[in-house]
Amino acid sequence: MQKFLGAFKMQKRHNSFLFVNGIDMGFRFFDLSGFTKKVFQIITVFVSVCNIPVTFDTSIFGPVESFVQRCSNGIYTVNTTVVPFTVQIPCGATMGCDTEGWAGLVDTTVEMYSTFKMNNYDHKMYIIPAGLCQFAGLGYIGPNCTNGCRVFVPSDKLGFPSVYLHEFGHNWGLMHSWYGASEYGDLSSAMGWCCDTRCFNAAEEFKLKWSRPINVVKRSGVYTLQANEYIQLPNQSIFVQFRKDKPGLEQINQDFKDLVALYTETQLLAKLRNGETVTIGNTVVTVQNLQPTFAVVQIQFV
Ligand SMILES: [Zn+2]
Repeated sequence: MQKFLGAFKMQKRHNSFLFVNGIDMGFRFFDLSGFTKKVFQIITVFVSVCNIPVTFDTSIFGPVESFVQRCSNGIYTVNTTVVPFTVQIPCGATMGCDTEGWAGLVDTTVEMYSTFKMNNYDHKMYIIPAGLCQFAGLGYIGPNCTNGCRVFVPSDKLGFPSVYLHEFGHNWGLMHSWYGASEYGDLSSAMGWCCDTRCFNAAEEFKLKWSRPINVVKRSGVYTLQANEYIQLPNQSIFVQFRKDKPGLEQINQDFKDLVALYTETQLLAKLRNGETVTIGNTVVTVQNLQPTFAVVQIQFV
């Protein structure tokens, strides 16, 4: 399911002049210098299949746009254009959960009955009837999708911003975030199970160039992390983050927040609370002090 795995997509918040070169994270000014802001154009089509209705509701897309922009620290902006009519896929035209067949018919129909050019958009999003497919969402694995990256969202998942972030995450090249034996087990990231409201973890933000570590660790030492700050371990793509809800934005499962988490690009490796230690290779990570607003982490090379 790698190509099409995707279970989950974004407001325009125009930065005021004060934040042209940074974002007020509420605890520390986040320096955006060196980051490249990107704007993604999304075309969204509501699709009815064999007379199964799909609710035409565009009210989510403003909050979704806001969510993606805030999760990305203002780096990514998504602009959603909605085709103003529902495309009807006739009975018998396709069978089962035929997302590719539907999308082909939808693209042809939209271009026949409107002036929209589907391939002019970075992401092509199809809102399909609930119950026809088993997924909470489906997204092509990018970032190099041919003719635009497709995303499919069942209408019963229309109201969950993390669904869209998850699927766009696939389009941008992210994979699922494992924890233990569970492919979707990292409940601190939108790349885990649907549908709590979550952004991405430190490793995923780093990959997308949404943020940077406060330190790249070169020697044993003690590091203080404020909320959601992270450090990068040397010669390893491992990131140590003080994971907290981003206020007013996320609602992370309580077992996956207010702790120190170790991440790779595809995995939550460990969750550490006060006094807990984990050894990975020659590196020992210990949480010396865990407080509501900061975490003190010791890194030892042995
Ligand atoms: Zn997925």
